[in-house]
Amino acid sequence: MCQNAPEMTGSDASRFLRVRVFDHNIITLATMFKPTVRVKAEGDVKVHKRGAPSSRYPDRLNFYDKPPILDITLDEFETAALTRLRVLTYLEALQQRSLPPAQLSSTLAAYLKQHLPLSANTARSADLDGERRLDAIGHWVLRLAFCRSPELRARFVRAETALFKHRFESDDLSERAMFLSGLDLSWTVVGDKEREDHWTSLRDTMWWTKENVLAKETWFKVPWASVPDLVAQRRVFICGGMAYVPQSMQISLVLQAFSARLEAALELTAKNLPRLDEDERLAPVIDHLAASFLSGLAGAEYTPSDSTALVTAEMVDDVARKHFPPCMLNLYERLKRDHHLKHFGRLQLGLFLKGIGLPLDEALIFWRRMYGSSMSDDKFNKEYRYNIRHSYGQEGRRANYPPRSCQQILTSNQPGTQDSHGCPFRHFSPDNLTSFLLSTYPQLERGSPEMKDIMDSVKGSAYHVACTRLFEVTRGIKKGEGVGGGESVTHPNKFTAQSQEIEKERLEAMKIDH
Ligand code: SF4
Repeated sequence: MCQNAPEMTGSDASRFLRVRVFDHNIITLATMFKPTVRVKAEGDVKVHKRGAPSSRYPDRLNFYDKPPILDITLDEFETAALTRLRVLTYLEALQQRSLPPAQLSSTLAAYLKQHLPLSANTARSADLDGERRLDAIGHWVLRLAFCRSPELRARFVRAETALFKHRFESDDLSERAMFLSGLDLSWTVVGDKEREDHWTSLRDTMWWTKENVLAKETWFKVPWASVPDLVAQRRVFICGGMAYVPQSMQISLVLQAFSARLEAALELTAKNLPRLDEDERLAPVIDHLAASFLSGLAGAEYTPSDSTALVTAEMVDDVARKHFPPCMLNLYERLKRDHHLKHFGRLQLGLFLKGIGLPLDEALIFWRRMYGSSMSDDKFNKEYRYNIRHSYGQEGRRANYPPRSCQQILTSNQPGTQDSHGCPFRHFSPDNLTSFLLSTYPQLERGSPEMKDIMDSVKGSAYHVACTRLFEVTRGIKKGEGVGGGESVTHPNKFTAQSQEIEKERLEAMKIDH
């Protein structure tokens, strides 16, 4: 009888990741296993040579079923996680670029080779142990960061599964077979008799395959719900609730098993998180990782370039219509309509305006005008002038506050129902977002592929990807080019600066043509 789709067993369910931090910044990544299934620490202290097989990680591929028992430094904890996070965000951005599969695979392979290489056992000069250790630590640390909400879990599973798929497809065939044989995947091989009984149906699902190839094919039986992609494409024969999957489509089964196990493990980690034996120094690192994943990896703070032109209060309206990102356009429109913004809205828009080149004296004129007659000069001078001067570093601590990045906007000071700050892609309901986009951007049409791209990214919590797609559509840029070189939007001011740059280039090109 066939077994259920791979899922956590009783002993699996009894374990969760435990992280301990000792003095001198040494962390132990460990798991709580039942004694009988506890992973031995063999190889923990062995010095590993380049080109030698790895005793800890015999396979290049990894289902990450067994958390490593390791002592690592706080630095390694953070570096491994950030390295993997960069890979996952790069992979997500690459998937948005509609590249042919071969080009996507070669681009990703080149990136991985540089940032997170994972060599085959046959590689002579590679540090197999070091590479696989970095890979495993990064994965396990990110689990801690991304188990915290359903949206983070779903996105992490998708990205990790895509990474695994790329590695699986590029793996050495014999190493891949060895890796699969070591997994308990609970597939049932269809016997000769059963194969004969269903031969016509089985052959029909592979009608394009030559008879002699078909004769050598092996089929596995699995519950049909475990291969939804194959069922949807009608590529498998289903009988008695079981799908008959040919070996040539094995990858679907493997990926399904990978994501199902990861999903279950993340839920388990989330449940156990409150009991995590965690050092207080880890919490900010883990929080930062989760925030970075939601907003795309933000670069350094935004610093306006020396060539940033000055913007006057008079010019803001024109710049807003042409170049503001959705978050700032929404705030600006609300300010125009209501002659008022609440504290975080004023802060978000005010710092952004400073970043686009609005000097202090013009900012005072701008805000005074926007509040209009609803506010007396006296009230403005007493309650608002000081704050505006403060944000320009002219009062109080005289700190020069930078404009907010997408990461800060997406993850801090969550807006309430009366607020208008935040990011529309994250903080608007799907209906409100759709109306806002359709009424603001004439380039978007309801039901268009572009609109679908944007809403799909929002559904997958990839807000920066949605914003990047909007940038491409509204600026007439090819899908995948992003804000330049395939980069995603990570800062509202970069969105605006790049949009202005595109306009400038087009105007110059027109001048040359004439
Ligand atoms: S992704 Fe960033 S720039 Fe785009 S709307 Fe959201 S916060 Fe603004």
